[in-house]
Amino acid sequence: MRPTGRLHLGNLHGALGNWVELQNSGSYDCFYFVADWHAITSEYASTEDIRQNSLNMVIDWLAAGLDPDKSTLFVQSAVKEHAELFLLLSMITPLAWLTRNPTYKEMQTELSTKDLSTFGFLGYPVLQAADIIMYKAYGVPVGVDQLPHIELTREIARRFNYLYQKDVFPVPEPLLTSVPKLLGIDGRKMSKSYDNAVYLSDRGKELRQKIASMFTDPQRMRKKDPGNPEICNVFTFHGLYSPAPAVAEINRECRVAGIGCTDCKKMLAARVEEALAPVHERMDYYQRNGKEIEERIRKGNDEAAEIARRTMAEVREAVKI
Ligand code: AMP
Repeated sequence: MRPTGRLHLGNLHGALGNWVELQNSGSYDCFYFVADWHAITSEYASTEDIRQNSLNMVIDWLAAGLDPDKSTLFVQSAVKEHAELFLLLSMITPLAWLTRNPTYKEMQTELSTKDLSTFGFLGYPVLQAADIIMYKAYGVPVGVDQLPHIELTREIARRFNYLYQKDVFPVPEPLLTSVPKLLGIDGRKMSKSYDNAVYLSDRGKELRQKIASMFTDPQRMRKKDPGNPEICNVFTFHGLYSPAPAVAEINRECRVAGIGCTDCKKMLAARVEEALAPVHERMDYYQRNGKEIEERIRKGNDEAAEIARRTMAEVREAVKI
């Protein structure tokens, strides 16, 4: 994850929640990292917040339940091997694979205030491929927006193995959650860049106000109009935060105009607040104990670097340099 700001509920339901589950399942060797070089691809002109954002992001991870005793948590820029593998992979990646990447075009349009026609921005999926295959990952837990990048990573891994006649890298699979794309309060994909996000750190009045301003079924203008929960984002959120009988009741009552959007949102806000309470408690603890986090990350960096060194020895051997 890129340290470009606090994490939001899209990050949680699309990826981070899954990270915690994979970690706790005990069946995976998990590597999660702060993609600070990736943050620079779009934030190169204002890098002053990256360090603080990195720390805040790790605080959000720990608050959500990641545990450095179970997973390797590290910072990308602390493991320089990522840059070396990126360079070697860039040699074998055809330019057309990058120019046709849908996120490349999409982000250039969406973030039109930033000049993203840079070499680094075009090439970041190659860096991402290096980040993934460095650890010989066979599963990558991401949201659906990342699928084109995982596909590209698979092609690059295959091409490397083919060109150098050695199966150095497994071909990784994406690991999606049941909510691969959560919408924000304005109905677009929830994103830091769109100013439509509910943050993991939002609480109290701020949280309630954000939920109160969420878009609902656009056809439902008045309380007495029957609604359609299938196209209502507030209902999607109820599916994530309310128990099944409550969701069934809202579904029924909304369709017959038995419940209005304001009450429905108030109920949702109470559920979200309740669900986030233990997360906020942990967040407050880690916020006060930044030194402890830095220590844990240093250990994670060492663990990751050890594996990266081994992989790079194999890579140099295969490339014959
Ligand atoms: P980013 O903030 O773009 O670096 O994304 C970090 C992770 O969160 C990636 O795995 C994304 O796929 C996931 N993600 C970001 N926004 C959403 C969203 N609105 N819904 C689901 N997953 C998301």
